[in-house]
Amino acid sequence: MTLDADWAERWIRRTADAVADRRDELTELDREIGDGDHGENLVRGFRAVVAKLDARRAEVDGSGAGGPEAPPRLVGDVLKLTATTLMSTVGGASGPLYGTAFLRAAKVTGHETIDTRGIVAMLESALDGITARGKAEPGEKTMVDAWTPAVEAAERAAGEGDEADALRAAAAAADAGSTATIPLVATKGRASYLGERSAGHEDPGARSTALLLAAAVDALGE
Ligand code: ADP
Ligand code: MG
Ligand code: MG
Repeated sequence: MTLDADWAERWIRRTADAVADRRDELTELDREIGDGDHGENLVRGFRAVVAKLDARRAEVDGSGAGGPEAPPRLVGDVLKLTATTLMSTVGGASGPLYGTAFLRAAKVTGHETIDTRGIVAMLESALDGITARGKAEPGEKTMVDAWTPAVEAAERAAGEGDEADALRAAAAAADAGSTATIPLVATKGRASYLGERSAGHEDPGARSTALLLAAAVDALGE
């Protein structure tokens, strides 16, 4: 298994499928503590990214530029295209947050392949971007509560395992982190308007983070 630009592209395409499959669930979670658009926001955003990936692919095929003379395809190029497209197509809080995450991740993945350290750096940078943009700390019932344990788990796994182990650990920790937002009281984002009444509901952005990282794992297996 190689974590190259093809993997990154599969990751993003699988994320688009996952958010489309789970749109109603994300919408319902956001209806409970927000404005009910998180599913739609992400479906629109990732669909736009897939359209750009398709267009770029058609361009490369059409020009015959995929041959031995082709310039190297970098993991970070896919992530940067994802970032800019999400920023320009997703209006809600999650657009700039995921956009910044992918932009920071792109900055540390400007390579043809990434290794276990690269995965950890990518996830750390994504979380740094989200924190820089949204100023949320762990425990405020946001996507940070999925990303933070994901980064920590990837770091731990990277000590012993390979890239796949690090990604799998991150995805599992994001899933658990999302579930663990249920009892929390939101103090950032729209859900904070509800105060104590936000407790008892899972944060939609934490759930979509878990879907995103699960898609990164699924993309390994093709
Ligand atoms: P909006 O709230 O503008 O409608 P979305 O519904 O698409 O945007 O996204 C909501 C999600 O964004 C929340 O569930 C939460 O995870 C995340 N979020 C909101 N504000 C912040 C913040 N300041 N820091 C981190 N994540 C945030
Ligand atoms: Mg919303
Ligand atoms: Mg909204």
